[in-house]
Amino acid sequence: MQVQLQASARPVSAPATPNRPPTTGRNPVPGRFAPTPSGRMHIGNIYAMLGAWLSARSRGDGMLLRIEDIDEPRVVPGAAELMMDDLHWLGLDWDGDPVFQSARHDLYREALHCLENLTIDDAYDSPFDERNDHTPAVGSAANNAIAGTTPLIYPCFCSRADIRAASAPQEGDRFMVYPGTCRRLIASNPDTVRRRLANGDRHSLRIAMPADTNPHATVQFDDAVFGHQEFNLAHDVGDTIVRRADGLFSYQLVVVVDDLDMGVDDIVRGRDLLRSNALQIAIRRALIKAGFRKAKTQASAPSQHAPQSQYTPYNPENPRYAHLPLIDNAAGRRLAKRERSLDMGALRAHGVTAEQVVGYCAWLLGLQGDSAHTSPQPMSAVEALQEFDWGKVRADTADRSISQDDFDAYFGL
Ligand code: GLU
Repeated sequence: MQVQLQASARPVSAPATPNRPPTTGRNPVPGRFAPTPSGRMHIGNIYAMLGAWLSARSRGDGMLLRIEDIDEPRVVPGAAELMMDDLHWLGLDWDGDPVFQSARHDLYREALHCLENLTIDDAYDSPFDERNDHTPAVGSAANNAIAGTTPLIYPCFCSRADIRAASAPQEGDRFMVYPGTCRRLIASNPDTVRRRLANGDRHSLRIAMPADTNPHATVQFDDAVFGHQEFNLAHDVGDTIVRRADGLFSYQLVVVVDDLDMGVDDIVRGRDLLRSNALQIAIRRALIKAGFRKAKTQASAPSQHAPQSQYTPYNPENPRYAHLPLIDNAAGRRLAKRERSLDMGALRAHGVTAEQVVGYCAWLLGLQGDSAHTSPQPMSAVEALQEFDWGKVRADTADRSISQDDFDAYFGL
C-alpha cells in the first residue's frame, strides 16, 4: 500500500544558502544528489547526500538534483517535495531545477535504441578509446541475430523464480548473476525467440556482458574510499536487465544515461553499488560507442570565471567515484522498525536542529575523527565543508554502526 506524505513546503528549484562560500569560479562539472522518493529521508540517506554535496562543493563544483522516480511502484506521492524541503532545511543546496526521471522516458528510449544497434562485438571487442569517433554501428538486434552475431540487447523470458533456481546464492549486495538462459536461446534458436516475441510473450531486455575470456571483460576503477576496484563483467556482473518485463527502464540503465546526459562527473553513493559501478561503466562505454548524445558528452568549456588551475574538463569516460561505507545492518533494521519515529519528519517535529543532523552524518563520515572513539557534535553544512577530506572518510572503511541508545541520547529522543 502506498503511503501518502504531506508536503508542507514545495521548493522546486535551488534553495538559497546565504552561509555558503561564494560560488564564482565554480567548476561547471557537477556532482549530483540522486534520491529515490520512496519515503521520508532518514539518517542513512542524509549521510549519502552529505557525502555527495561535500565532495562536489569542496572542489567548487556544481551540484544537480535528480529525483529517481522511474520505479513508479516504489514512489510515494509527496516524498520528492519533502526531500527537497529537508535538503533545503539541512543547508544542502543544488544548482538549477531538479530533474525528474519520470519525465525522461523519451531519452531512455533513445538510449536503449542506440544500444540495440550494437552487437556484443561492437561493444566489447575493441579497447575503449576516448579518441574514437564513436560512429554508431548500423543494424538492429534482429538483423544482427540473423547475421549470426549476438545482439548486445536481447529479450529474456525468464521469471525471477527461474533465475533464482538457476543462480548461485546471492551475495551481500543482492546482486544475482544471470545464468544466461535466454542468451543461449537466442544464439541456438533465434526462431523460437522470434516466435515468442511475435506471440507477445512477456519479456524483459538484457544487456549482454562480454565472455570472461574477452580481454575487455575486466573493468577497473579507482574509488575515493575503497581504492582500486576490479570486476570481471562475466563472473561478477552478468547480463543485466535494462528494461523490465513491466516496461519500466531499469535503474542500471537510466542512472548511466542521466549521469552521461547531465555531464555528472562526481558519483557518490553507498558501497552496495560498487559492483553495479562496474556494470555502469560498461553501459557508459557502450552508450558512448553507440554515439549516444555525442555532442553533449564532449568536454564542456570552462566557465568564464573558473581559474584554469581549478578547472577539470568533463571526461565522460572517467567520472570520479566514491562509495561510502553502509550504516550497519543491525542498526538499520532497528531504525527501520522505528522508521516513522526516526525519519526526518519525526526528527524535525521533535525539535532536532539541522546542525545536529548534519553533525551526526559528518561524524558517521569520519569528519569528526574516528567515529568508534568520538561522539558526534552538531555542525552546519558549511562547517562540515571545512572539515571535509576523502582521506578522513577512507581512514575507516568498515560499515558504520549506530547504537540506538547513543542515537537517542544525542538527539534527545
Ligand atoms: N536512487 C539511488 C538510491 O537512492 C541512487 C543510486 C546512485 O546514486 O546511483 O540508492
